[in-house]
Amino acid sequence: MALIVQKYGGTSVGSVERIEQVAEKVVRWRERGDDVVVVVSAMSGETNRLINLAKSIHGRPAPRELDVLMSTGEQVTIALLSIALEKRGCAARSYTGGQVHILTDSAHNKARIRAIDDQRVRGDLNLGRVVVVAGFQGVDELGNITTLGRGGSDTTAVALAAAMKADECQIYTDVDGVYTTDPRVVPQARRLDRITFEEMMEMASLGSKVLQIRSVEFAGKYNVPLRVLSSFEDGPGTLITYEEEGMEEALISGIAFNRDEAQLTILGVPDQPGVAYKILGPISDSNIEVDMIVQNIAQDGSTTDFTFTVHRNDFQRALELLNRTSSELGAREVRGNETLVKISLVGVGMRSHAGIASTMFKTLANEGINIRMISTSEIKISVVVDEKYLELGVRALHEAFELNKTH
Ligand code: ADP
Ligand code: ASP
Ligand code: MG
Repeated sequence: MALIVQKYGGTSVGSVERIEQVAEKVVRWRERGDDVVVVVSAMSGETNRLINLAKSIHGRPAPRELDVLMSTGEQVTIALLSIALEKRGCAARSYTGGQVHILTDSAHNKARIRAIDDQRVRGDLNLGRVVVVAGFQGVDELGNITTLGRGGSDTTAVALAAAMKADECQIYTDVDGVYTTDPRVVPQARRLDRITFEEMMEMASLGSKVLQIRSVEFAGKYNVPLRVLSSFEDGPGTLITYEEEGMEEALISGIAFNRDEAQLTILGVPDQPGVAYKILGPISDSNIEVDMIVQNIAQDGSTTDFTFTVHRNDFQRALELLNRTSSELGAREVRGNETLVKISLVGVGMRSHAGIASTMFKTLANEGINIRMISTSEIKISVVVDEKYLELGVRALHEAFELNKTH
């Protein structure tokens, strides 16, 4: 008998009919004799609806109250699914994150899980019940409701699977696995049978929202067997796994992209020690995450230009801060651009192969796409380009690297 943790995302529980279909699926697993813990998201669109309600009252709602509000989405789904299970004669119990002691830090809207006390869940499983847990939420030490960041139900599922040493954590969603790139942008994208934790981490952090990055981090750290599958059709899905010795490595496993880039440039700052700190200090003090950074070589020997990227949501705030720094430093000009995107190639095979960057740049050049920034690591290359070139760029690269074919 195995212990399986299953997570069903927003679309998979998007209506009462779909919730009933999920119940059917869970019952089939139970009938095999497995213990099943189910984590569910809010019904699709619900979390956005709740956020918009709050924003219609206040432009920047208090993060604590936003958590109280957003967590209600998942609470609806756990109850409906448990009712659907009971209707089928399958004993079930629903729990909020707090009720099963998902303890987090107090960083509202982006809390991190610190510990899970699985006693209550185990007790129910021993009584033959299916346990249905609300994803995306926990409580801090003082009992305040917290949420784990958008897409956080994935992390709830993996954390529960890790805490309970589950045999597998299955993430059921509206695609039948992890693809070479988002199949909604490239219809020729190919489902991968397996992908390494390392590659999946890069894909997730570079914008592939099929799994929340923290869930992959958790799964890698605690060695949780993790699989992405379709809730609508049967199939093997994609297994996220460790890199195996001798495993034939694809040069490129996938293409990730991120539509939320914004770029800021400060021109004509003194080329002297401490300037990077003066520019980026106020930005990080305001909790704005900086992604790529480029500092040019001083042409006239005394001043230089400095460019960095942030999330689009932080653009206005970063621009205000940079304008302030600019007057303090006597810079020549501040420029901003919030219609940019980032496209990244990811693959562990890159480690041992040269020439990938040049093929990437040539492909983009052939399409007349101007590259505004470049950044590389051992297993990825990212470029920043104008938003209007996103689809064209991703499709051209997918074709150039023949990602539609198995190698
Ligand atoms: P859920 O609501 O089930 O959590 P998400 O919308 O968070 O589902 O994630 C699934 C979506 O991720 C897919 O519909 C797909 O458009 C998108 N996606 C982005 N990149 C990829 C990829 N490389 N492989 C598969 N899906 C991807
Ligand atoms: N409902 C939350 C969201 O929309 C969490 C999740 O779906 O994973 O972000
Ligand atoms: Mg998701």
